[in-house]
Amino acid sequence: MPELPDLLHVLARLRERLAGRAVEAERVRDPVVLRCLVRGNLSLLLGNTLQAIERRGHFLIFRFAGLDLAVNPMLAGRFRLATPGEPDEAALGFAIEFRPRDGDAPVELRYLDDKSMGKAYLVAAGDWSAIPAFHAGGIDVLSKEFTRDRFFSLLRHRKDQVRVFLLDKKALDAIGNAYADEILFAAGIHPKTFCRKLDHDDSVRLHDAIVQVITEAAAEVEARNAPIEEKVRDFLKVRRKETCPRCQSKLRVAGVKGMDAWYCPRCQPETRPGLVDFRKTGK
Ligand SMILES: [Zn+2]
Repeated sequence: MPELPDLLHVLARLRERLAGRAVEAERVRDPVVLRCLVRGNLSLLLGNTLQAIERRGHFLIFRFAGLDLAVNPMLAGRFRLATPGEPDEAALGFAIEFRPRDGDAPVELRYLDDKSMGKAYLVAAGDWSAIPAFHAGGIDVLSKEFTRDRFFSLLRHRKDQVRVFLLDKKALDAIGNAYADEILFAAGIHPKTFCRKLDHDDSVRLHDAIVQVITEAAAEVEARNAPIEEKVRDFLKVRRKETCPRCQSKLRVAGVKGMDAWYCPRCQPETRPGLVDFRKTGK
């Protein structure tokens, strides 16, 4: 699943390569992926110029004159920039070919999805309220509005475990499984800790960790500049790793509301006895 640092990299590359180009051709290989909320189909984009690309939560929105194409990659969706005429991938959902610009070669945007779970919505420009699950409403963790006070007010009324809170798109835009583990490791907080058990210092460390981990990851992914269909994750410290980089303890995996969480039992101690029973039920 693309997470915020991945999406920011994809967004930057797509803007560079595609903005200002007109659509030359389109094809839909997997009709399940595309939902048209206007009368017609993807051919409505032919000849239309891509004016801008924006991100809202996990959606990337391709803005054309009069029409927007909003894509939510969900679990397995990814974008690829191809040369027109390259053989189709088995996972191809749809492709949009763009005309050359300033002497560039033509380029094709491909949306690939092994699970056909992602969705692309073709809507009238700005008519985003019609898109299912579009407005989760969480606060952008990289925005200047994501202050310590704002974070504390979100945290105050939570009755769930801290890792569940971090993943809640209605609260935070947006943290996925990989960076939730990295953030909790950076903050030294066990993934099963209940939000109401976090004291002031824990909450400060958690807020700092969110901003720092996501900011640094975004910079790292950008610096690697891998093809946009690849997810760069090898720099993560605990997610799917064996050993704690800080204390060399063997990392453990806990089940938190059906999700696997990687953590270090020494750097993220379970100090609350009530949590022990929960761990026996997890992995
Ligand atoms: Zn450790």
